[in-house]
Amino acid sequence: MCWLLLSLVAVAAAQGFDYFENYYNEIDIEDEQAEAKTRNALQSPLQRWPNPKLYYRISSEYSDEEAQNVRSALKTFDEQTCINFEELTEPIPSGQRYVYYKKSPQMCGTRVGYNPIPLFGSGSHDVLLTEHCLSKPGIIQHETLHVLGLYHEQSRADRDMFVVIDYDNIPRKYWSQFMAMSDKSTTTFNVPYDFESVMHYPKNAFAKDRNKPTIRALVNGEPVEREMGQVLGPSEGDLTKIRLMYCN
Ligand SMILES: [Zn+2]
Repeated sequence: MCWLLLSLVAVAAAQGFDYFENYYNEIDIEDEQAEAKTRNALQSPLQRWPNPKLYYRISSEYSDEEAQNVRSALKTFDEQTCINFEELTEPIPSGQRYVYYKKSPQMCGTRVGYNPIPLFGSGSHDVLLTEHCLSKPGIIQHETLHVLGLYHEQSRADRDMFVVIDYDNIPRKYWSQFMAMSDKSTTTFNVPYDFESVMHYPKNAFAKDRNKPTIRALVNGEPVEREMGQVLGPSEGDLTKIRLMYCN
């Protein structure tokens, strides 16, 4: 498997962030090549979906309520961007490209961006979601924004102007999750850095000591602890990037 496991670690319920409890184990599955080429928003048109009309399919393993959560999460993109999600029903036409929302017992994640060459000859771009992730439209939207080509906000090429990473508080095996990428391969579309992005890690993502932040905001050149990231839904900055990628 050439997939890269990328974890988004958040605080435990004991610290009062219930909605992150299982999201603690969010794992984004990303193609290594895409990982190397892309950060924040995909620059290459090849890795954007060729058309703002996207088809999707919901696993028959989902309960009615879970399926409804996916539909209502996607409605946000229909209503606020030019992206139009249309649900496919069986049988899926052969060769059809579509986003496939599937169930996973332990991980939530997907590949970043459109894959011009479908994996394993299948037309599906899989999004794996646990029961917990399925209960939170914001997490469904986070994964869907990965599908559309957004990376985590704190991976932007210019992030060192806005945040400081405390690597001493991060296990070495996760250091790669905090890399900022070159602006040669990615773009921010000149959208301001967005602490409220649904794609931003929380302040103590991957922390060894969760009482201390791993990411602090730079305010007048000084690192300051503040809240960042949320799972309520896409921010205006997230939606702006999608509009710039697909709606021009
Ligand atoms: Zn993610």
